[in-house]
Amino acid sequence: MSDLLTRRDFVGAATGMAAGAVLGAAPARRTAAPAILVRPAGRNVVVASSNGLRAVERAGRLLAQGVDPLEAGIDGVKIQELDPEDTSVGYGGLPNEEGVVQLDASCMHGPTKRAGAVAALEGIKTPSEVAKYVLWYTNHILLVGEGAKRFALSYGFKEENLLTDKAREIWLRWRANRGAADDWLDVPEDANLVVRPTGTINCNLVNAKGEISSVTTTSGLAWKIPGRVGDSALVGAGQYTDNDVGAAGSTGRGESNIKVCGAFLTVESMRRGIKPTDACLETLKRVITMTEPRLLDEQGRPRFGLTFYAVNKIGEYGSASLFSGDRYAVWEEDRAALRDCAYLYQRRRRGS
Ligand code: ASP
Repeated sequence: MSDLLTRRDFVGAATGMAAGAVLGAAPARRTAAPAILVRPAGRNVVVASSNGLRAVERAGRLLAQGVDPLEAGIDGVKIQELDPEDTSVGYGGLPNEEGVVQLDASCMHGPTKRAGAVAALEGIKTPSEVAKYVLWYTNHILLVGEGAKRFALSYGFKEENLLTDKAREIWLRWRANRGAADDWLDVPEDANLVVRPTGTINCNLVNAKGEISSVTTTSGLAWKIPGRVGDSALVGAGQYTDNDVGAAGSTGRGESNIKVCGAFLTVESMRRGIKPTDACLETLKRVITMTEPRLLDEQGRPRFGLTFYAVNKIGEYGSASLFSGDRYAVWEEDRAALRDCAYLYQRRRRGS
């Protein structure tokens, strides 16, 4: 059900529940944020970036078996993290400018209100799982670099070389062609190799009981400055869950998302009754208003890509991207499918 209910149904259902609470059906929580989405989904829904088609399928099947949404989501995105052919996530991810793969991931578990994250993690194939360990077993939320690795090793994660031959070759070509004033001889190459590749997987889930979770994992921007942390590791930017409302997350240029706390902003829009797709579009508009002129073209359009994905407590979902032509993955009614993202700008054809 992509944004199925009307706005009036949506708010109306919530209003009914709020009245119930006043009549004593549920104890008032003094510190709770205003929650207007209270009716559980009644079915399982998983929404993810398009590279997460296998992830939503795995996660959806696990939800159907009653597996917790965070466990299901992490099991889903791990398929991509462990796939050496995927150069945007986990093992096989493209490295930083020195040829070292540094991974970021974060997750949230709605029912327990917990969060966990790792950043600039080296040598461990599945950062999403390490983030989950931070969530379950520590009093902290974000571990970085060497500390994050030692934490992972203490739980039995194996240290491995994450730079595959495929990723190394792409990195070497980039290094050879990055500038005229360096000491590297240019090599003939396909034009695509000088475009800075990006990639990430974000996955948001709600089960039939209305329990919500989210996870995002990435190798970050290729050729980044060592130590750079993107949005994927940051709770509120790369992903966010509020079990009363929904979950959201992103892929694309992390720096642009971090400035607007995009996942949090999207969930807050849904809290006000805005449908998931429109909430994602609202966040993208905010991104544009917060973008430096150097990152905009002559027509004020961004020179980068960014996409948001969202699901709410009643199982409505959606996604929006800066440019047309992007897709996202969804699991509902026992099947996985790709759908078109809403968008702000028509993508220009090459050379036009
Ligand atoms: N959002 C990721 C980052 O900035 C990259 C991506 O999604 O392509 O690290």
